[in-house]
Amino acid sequence: MVSSAGVWDKARSEATAAPHSGAWLDALPSCALDTQLSNAEIQYGVGRRLGVELCEQAPCPLCLGVMDKWGAHCECCMSGGDKTVTHNKIRDNLYLQARKARTAPQHEAVGIARLLGLEVGRETQERPADVLLCRAQDIRTGGSLGAGKVALDVGIVCPQATCHLSDASQESLGAAEKYVRAKCSRGDMERRCREVVVTFQPMIFESFGGVSVEAERVIKCLNKAVAVNTDISEEVVATQFWHRVGVDLVRANCRAFHRRLLSHGGDVLGAVGPLGGGGGCRLWKACEAGGL
Ligand SMILES: [Zn+2]
Repeated sequence: MVSSAGVWDKARSEATAAPHSGAWLDALPSCALDTQLSNAEIQYGVGRRLGVELCEQAPCPLCLGVMDKWGAHCECCMSGGDKTVTHNKIRDNLYLQARKARTAPQHEAVGIARLLGLEVGRETQERPADVLLCRAQDIRTGGSLGAGKVALDVGIVCPQATCHLSDASQESLGAAEKYVRAKCSRGDMERRCREVVVTFQPMIFESFGGVSVEAERVIKCLNKAVAVNTDISEEVVATQFWHRVGVDLVRANCRAFHRRLLSHGGDVLGAVGPLGGGGGCRLWKACEAGGL
């Protein structure tokens, strides 16, 4: 099936096969843990993984692009602030985990910008540290261990974005790894950080939930430290972390999708059941047919 699929479906297929992609499917719905997803969120998340048509093709109300039928555009669209909200949510998850791991993290550290000699103003928009780990002796990054401070730079990519489609269709996590290389070379950031004894570490998540290889290694170290500090097994700590990330990604992507549908008047595109009403419910019908 994979070999006969076009690049669009291959990219989706590879993304859904990546480790931790779809971790939210294993999360028990719990109000206490904030892992309870709405019907619309589950429909969106399952529909995206299956490649189901979720809406009619139409202009995106927030940018000059086109909303595709499969709901991918909302995961790529840079307008409307949804990408920033998703980015900040994942950044905060990492920060909290780094705190529990006692790595003395700093949130959006501006100090790193000064270390790099960046002027306050436009250039500091390229802050390399969403989370700066100041006590990172036990954190393994890119094959090294214990190299001073570690600057975690978070990015979220959609494997079905036009610029990532080719890489994403060729191998699992192809989009994430390509963006890692782009982050490191942009503004020569990796080298500039190394010169001030800071390890620059991109943490690239795909919108389906997969994560770049080096980022996964860092998270594994954080989870291990959290387990030691809390007397909770590493397996439980890791499971909870990946459930958290997975649930937050599906919620954020679904919110971005419905914001664009609602801007068209709600049912103009044949929105999913809870928001779109009965008649034009494409995903609802697909789920029923597939026994979901
Ligand atoms: Zn758009």
